[in-house]
Amino acid sequence: MTTKTYKRKSGRKNDELRSPILAKVGIIPNADGSAMFQIGETIAIAGVYGPKKMHPQHSQNPSKGTLRCTYNMNSFSVEDRIRPGPSRRSTEISKITEWALEPVLMIDKFPNMVIDVHINIIQADAGTRCAGINAAAMALAHAGIPMKDMVSSVAVGKMDKTIVLDLDKYEDSEFEDGEGSTDIPVSMTHAGEITHLQLDGKIKPEQLKEAIEMAKKACDEIYEVQKKALKDSLNFGGEK
Ligand code: ADP
Repeated sequence: MTTKTYKRKSGRKNDELRSPILAKVGIIPNADGSAMFQIGETIAIAGVYGPKKMHPQHSQNPSKGTLRCTYNMNSFSVEDRIRPGPSRRSTEISKITEWALEPVLMIDKFPNMVIDVHINIIQADAGTRCAGINAAAMALAHAGIPMKDMVSSVAVGKMDKTIVLDLDKYEDSEFEDGEGSTDIPVSMTHAGEITHLQLDGKIKPEQLKEAIEMAKKACDEIYEVQKKALKDSLNFGGEK
């Protein structure tokens, strides 16, 4: 049973996404596909390069292409400067991003090739992996990579006993009352198939179900924003 004792500092309803939610496609002229996604204070940009021949040759896969994601949180993305370069966290999130996106990509059309996706977090206030996945999914579509569906991503969580949507930095890392904070980033296709789910904390199965239902509704909202941004990128100022 969900109790309603937790009151959000931000004043948001428990099932309310942060605002603004902004998306734009085609932001990096040199990339084959690109996009930005902002939710609240978190901003991600993604650039897609390829498909191109995989080098070195021994890394080539003759039966399908390789999706290679590189997640990076910029030094200036948080108040205390982050040490530049890869970390255990960025390596984990890069892998997670590949797993979240690969199920919708028709990657078997690109044997021996690699599709590189570079995700940069230029401002971070929690939920950066989800924002990165949202930006990357749009950038892949913009690059013309054949996809079976779009992927949308959001974090749900549990503050003490209350299920909430789209955790901010305080909720993600600072809230400690009662049972504390449980963070559950989820990515899903528009058809509702989950491609990624992480769970950091404790939650009962029935509350996890409730959280996933909440995430599904939110992913529908995010999908509409992604779709509009992609449509707008095709509309060269004319009627469409
Ligand atoms: P996510 O950003 O996907 O929620 P985490 O839960 O690992 O991933 O991080 C939560 C938030 O903590 C980040 O969005 C960011 O605001 C902050 N954060 C993460 N790593 C660092 C770091 N090395 N230095 C300062 N802040 C960080």
